[in-house]
Amino acid sequence: MNRFQLGTKRPMIIAGPCSAETREQTLDTCTQLAATGVVDMLRAGVWKPRTSPGTFEGVGLKGLAWMAEAKRTTGLPFGVEVASKAHVEAALEFEADCVWIGARTTVSPFAVQEIAEALAGSGVAVLIKNPMNPDIDLWAGAVKRFMGVGIAAENIGLIHRGFSYFGHSRYRNAPMWPLAFEMRSRFPEMMMICDPSHMAGNREYIAELSQEAADLRYDGLIVESHICPEQALSDAGQQLVPAELERLIRGVNWRKEAVDDPEFVGELARFRDEIDRIDAEVFGLLSRRMKVSESIGRVKKENDVAILQSSRWGAIKERILSQSDGLGLSTEFLTAILEAVHLESIARQNSVMNRG
Ligand code: PEP
Ligand code: MN
Repeated sequence: MNRFQLGTKRPMIIAGPCSAETREQTLDTCTQLAATGVVDMLRAGVWKPRTSPGTFEGVGLKGLAWMAEAKRTTGLPFGVEVASKAHVEAALEFEADCVWIGARTTVSPFAVQEIAEALAGSGVAVLIKNPMNPDIDLWAGAVKRFMGVGIAAENIGLIHRGFSYFGHSRYRNAPMWPLAFEMRSRFPEMMMICDPSHMAGNREYIAELSQEAADLRYDGLIVESHICPEQALSDAGQQLVPAELERLIRGVNWRKEAVDDPEFVGELARFRDEIDRIDAEVFGLLSRRMKVSESIGRVKKENDVAILQSSRWGAIKERILSQSDGLGLSTEFLTAILEAVHLESIARQNSVMNRG
């Protein structure tokens, strides 16, 4: 049997429903996706780790049988999410070509170790999603567990699906791109693909995130597609019908390897991209911080407390400045930023407290 190999095609496009729900939905979606000609591998979840109980938790083994059938009819390999030893055994029995570890599982070293041991020696590729929380060591730890049972780096890939974030951002899961770059630099030999569906949480933002991923030289995408997204039993808001998926994939511009250009030009562009993303995050955070200052202003107003509380400000300043070495930022630079932030913060509180 020819084993599916990661990294044989760039970009690699994985698509399929969030969940296998019925045989018809699974086969129709997969058949239409295969017909687009832009999909390299099919996906579907059959065991769904849900945040809240009582929501759809997957169809189990039946779904694997449907995916195996989709593989036979389309000729495309398929991947499935696994969260336990029993899942791995079932996936291998149904000849899955690839398994992936979900974000809720990557956070659990016991589960990851159990999965790694069950997968060892099978030759089946594994894709490891980033954990829910922005903890690079936890993500790297999961990779090391798979390597530790003898799975070769070329059989391991990374999926960046964004990080759970307290507060509001444009996306359901904040990309925090620099964390993914850090992961890439720790495992430069591993392919990394982007999951714009779970990052966005909303089909409206999938195209922009896909293009960003292409611009950032990801090796591919994993995107959710459903024959009838409105009726999807999970992640209804982010799934695309197969025709939309085709349009999305054909619309992404994968920057060519600039073989003729001097290396310098490529390097420069990458660093500039990185700066732009970081700036977007930095200023997004500053905006959030100012909104919190306004809330403080409201609370102070209700309790008739003065705006400036110098002991609190002194403590903030001392804490940040003490991190100067670790951050690699001079105290002059930190002080200048802190003063500007403090001034704006006072202005915001002032406008809340003295408005009207
Ligand atoms: C999924 O891919 O269907 C899934 C559950 O994703 P995540 O683990 O990224 O939430
Ligand atoms: Mn999903």
